[in-house]
Amino acid sequence: MASVLGSSHSSPSLSGLSSASTHASTRAALGLNGYPIIPDPLYTCSETLQLEGGPLVNSFGFPYRQIGDSAFPAFFLPSAVDKVKDEWTARSSDVFFVGASTNESLKTSLKKLTCALVEQLDDVDKVDTDWSRWVDAAVSRRGWGYIEALDEWPTRRCLETSCPPKNFPCRNSGIGDLVDACMAPRIAVFLSDPRWMLMTELECAGNKCLQNGYDVDPTFLTYLETAIDAESAKGLIFDGVRNSMAWAEAELRSPDRIRIFYVEDFMLQPEIAMRGLAKFLDVSSVSDATEKVVRQAETLCSKIKPFQERVAGDMNMYRSAEGYVVDFERQMAAAPSWMQSGWEQLLERWLQSPSPRMVAYAIDALAHQIYTSGAEWWPSHNARVCRPCLFFPRGTCKELDCSYCHGPGHAKHTKRPTRKQRDDRKKRYDRTPSPDIMRECIRDGAIKGY
Ligand SMILES: [Zn+2]
Ligand SMILES: [Zn+2]
Repeated sequence: MASVLGSSHSSPSLSGLSSASTHASTRAALGLNGYPIIPDPLYTCSETLQLEGGPLVNSFGFPYRQIGDSAFPAFFLPSAVDKVKDEWTARSSDVFFVGASTNESLKTSLKKLTCALVEQLDDVDKVDTDWSRWVDAAVSRRGWGYIEALDEWPTRRCLETSCPPKNFPCRNSGIGDLVDACMAPRIAVFLSDPRWMLMTELECAGNKCLQNGYDVDPTFLTYLETAIDAESAKGLIFDGVRNSMAWAEAELRSPDRIRIFYVEDFMLQPEIAMRGLAKFLDVSSVSDATEKVVRQAETLCSKIKPFQERVAGDMNMYRSAEGYVVDFERQMAAAPSWMQSGWEQLLERWLQSPSPRMVAYAIDALAHQIYTSGAEWWPSHNARVCRPCLFFPRGTCKELDCSYCHGPGHAKHTKRPTRKQRDDRKKRYDRTPSPDIMRECIRDGAIKGY
């Protein structure tokens, strides 16, 4: 019996003739590193610039593609971005890494750590960073064959995108309300101090100009001028400060599937931040791989000194987060006052954010402070592993450096009722009225809620 079923359903000669043959052959096509073998690019980046109407140029001379009302890198193809957004269904086990506006080397480290957790690799160096995870970019360059190869990847997948929520590259992102939340992939978004975000966007634009031979040199002032104006900002590939608001709203609607992580936490308290990330990604918190990756995070993230004195000559590999913020404040102080107030208006949007952490950053940035709201408890609070202070929500914590969490959103614990109050309450509940009395009460409107 078994052999009959076997021969009729899975005989290689039968399936070899059927339309399933392409599936069978790509399924086998996993590379040595375990990732699917994806098609080579169809075009060089400069060839794509000739396709589909070609790119536009933003206010400081940087080419970009307008797709929907968002800006994408100039090599993106609108038809590919639209197709993947409308037609491709991600798996609920998938994870998307959204590195928003973060310093390149830090972004690479965070991406490797996220991939290693999702794929449960016991060494971040086993993550092949050359393998193309950037879904919308890969479909633009390699065509739909990329998606077909991706769909043959049998295990959990860690993918990437940089686009704002409204252009998310799958049809079941869970960002709108079109799909059941538990069918949506998980999206981990990494944000930081808005000043640091703007400085890294500027740095990234400058690097891209150099790499691609564009004859533009974006300066702090030209970038800022573009960023503070809603219309010209539509030409920015990373409009981090605005897009962060959209991510905060998306997180509020589906906190189990969409979570904002704050880059500073990974540098200040890497172990706690990584455990929070692992929890969100729903990977084993005790596996060998998770343990090893958490240990590696401590080494990788501590390469970047977030808030320390800058040492002359120590700028070669990583700039400190504080370095970016100090640099931002120095240049902002010299900017014309209309630009300063434009920036303040942009930050005021963050004050309205549903994410309390973003509000704290905005308060600091508006006061030209460096990370004063960055209290000790933020990393564990954001990782959902904090121990709340019972006194703080009642306004009665007298400790100057209380070691418990003073983060927002913890329930206010009221004082335990006195013995007499508890006894009275018990008596009240013990005296259940008879059904007849209940009915009269309901009719008379004495008991509400029926
Ligand atoms: Zn907390
Ligand atoms: Zn306290």
